[in-house]
Amino acid sequence: MIYLDNAATTRLSERAKQAMEPYLKDLYGNPSAIYEFGETSKKAVRESREIIAGALHCAPENIFFTSGGTESDNWVLEHAMKQGKYITTSQIEHHAILNKCRQLQGQGANVTYIGTDREGTINLPQLENNIVEGNTLISVMTANNEVGTIEPVSEIGRIAHRHHALFHTDAVQAFGHIPINVNRMNIDFLSASAHKFHGPKGVGFLYVREPEKFAPMIYGGEQERGYRSGTENVAGIVGMGEAAKEAMEQMDNRMRKEQKLRNYLAERLMREIPYTRINGSTRHRLPGNLNLSFAGVEGAALVVLMDENQICISAGSACSASDTNPSHVLKALGQSDEEAYEAVRISLNFENTRDEIDFTIRKFQEIVIQMRKEK
Ligand SMILES: *Cc1c(COP(=O)(O)O)cnc(C)c1O
Repeated sequence: MIYLDNAATTRLSERAKQAMEPYLKDLYGNPSAIYEFGETSKKAVRESREIIAGALHCAPENIFFTSGGTESDNWVLEHAMKQGKYITTSQIEHHAILNKCRQLQGQGANVTYIGTDREGTINLPQLENNIVEGNTLISVMTANNEVGTIEPVSEIGRIAHRHHALFHTDAVQAFGHIPINVNRMNIDFLSASAHKFHGPKGVGFLYVREPEKFAPMIYGGEQERGYRSGTENVAGIVGMGEAAKEAMEQMDNRMRKEQKLRNYLAERLMREIPYTRINGSTRHRLPGNLNLSFAGVEGAALVVLMDENQICISAGSACSASDTNPSHVLKALGQSDEEAYEAVRISLNFENTRDEIDFTIRKFQEIVIQMRKEK
């Protein structure tokens, strides 16, 4: 199998797996217990928190463990309801943001969805004009999960703070892949998820700049200093910490490798298959992301035929695989329904080889030519 869908999820790294193993069985003490056996788990959770904090350049007290990106996103938006009930977000957010916003609108929230240019970069003047002084929570993703566009996060944070607004960024696609510094980038809240950076599924975190002004969403046994109750997913948290540590150590190498392989793939497909378009930005883009359209070829059908050749790619976003609407992201980028249906996403990573990419290019050529002939 050739796995080119790393934006949907990633393989657990060997180091993360080994770090988790003791906590899955032998070291099962509850971190809240006061005997030594519980202390062992507590210490492991603390160490993970320190690693994550180090990666973001913040203090461990600013990190709260959650069940993943969706929970972290929901938590921040829920908090906006206690503030001014004004939310400014973008049209290209993940459904963890968009569907939560829809629900909050039903409860009286005032939500504005800011548009982007054709490359997926958010319209900053429109964003700034929309802020209600002191009352707005801005939520814009660090990098988009479909087209890989990296948003001008520092600038958005600067605009937010100029107007006494709070700034949340969904960094699920970015954390562990590109450098992030919550201070330099003016971020107040940040969501991330372990399974998008070679950690386990079902665990993530939320960074909160001012926890003293923040409130829980889940109540119970007062874990996470009362902010997020429920017995800690110790093994998951340990696995996430190790995956984050590894990602930080290897980030430069991984980025270089992914970018090189991605550019090679893009250049050959553009050159060798006529009427191929790249969706998204050429300059501000995640290193492993490529989103393409082959004119006249339906993306979903292409995904199925690639799968018959053991190649995993995705049409639009994996989260909407069961939904037959055209991608909301490509629509926001100004594409017609017909154009949006043509898109496929290839998200590779540092583990992919040149041989795999060569095989993938050959299959794209064969299948696209065949599909166009049959039309
Ligand atoms: C995957 C993803 C999420 C959801 O994260 P989970 O941990 O799977 O809940 C949220 N936002 C973005 C941008 C994502 O890519």
